[in-house]
Amino acid sequence: MSPVDPYDRLRPSTDIEECECEVVTHLLLIIGWMSENPISCGECRREVDPERLRLTTKEVDLVAGWNVVSNSLYWLWLDSGEYEEYAKARLSDPTSQINTDGMKVAEMLSARLPTRLWYYSDTDDGTLIECPVCARPLDTNVKWGTGDCPVCKIRM
Ligand SMILES: [Zn+2]
Ligand SMILES: [Zn+2]
Repeated sequence: MSPVDPYDRLRPSTDIEECECEVVTHLLLIIGWMSENPISCGECRREVDPERLRLTTKEVDLVAGWNVVSNSLYWLWLDSGEYEEYAKARLSDPTSQINTDGMKVAEMLSARLPTRLWYYSDTDDGTLIECPVCARPLDTNVKWGTGDCPVCKIRM
């Protein structure tokens, strides 16, 4: 039996365009990315293969475990049924498990490369101008998303 490659847990089953930047300088950990790998390049926003980051098996498991829950909550929200309000409340609450665990995963990845946790926001509710965590004004000078909180290290 051939050993299972631990990186496979973070490798999409479908063909995706992977980050091809020569050097990755910062990362986005994207909530509800709907793919097996929520780690994206901060420059091109394409997925970064976990092997490039030399993640340990334990780290891969942490990212993959968080990602499954994050995607599940997104499905419940998008499904617009009985669970929609519940999922939205969990995703919007900075103290919810998905967000606090996301911060921990982003912190872990930041030991490799500076990482922002991509925060949930419902575009139907308008664009946030303040950080949902610390209420400071968001830095809107960002390549991806609508704003960045350098204090909380989150991106919207
Ligand atoms: Zn890239
Ligand atoms: Zn903040």
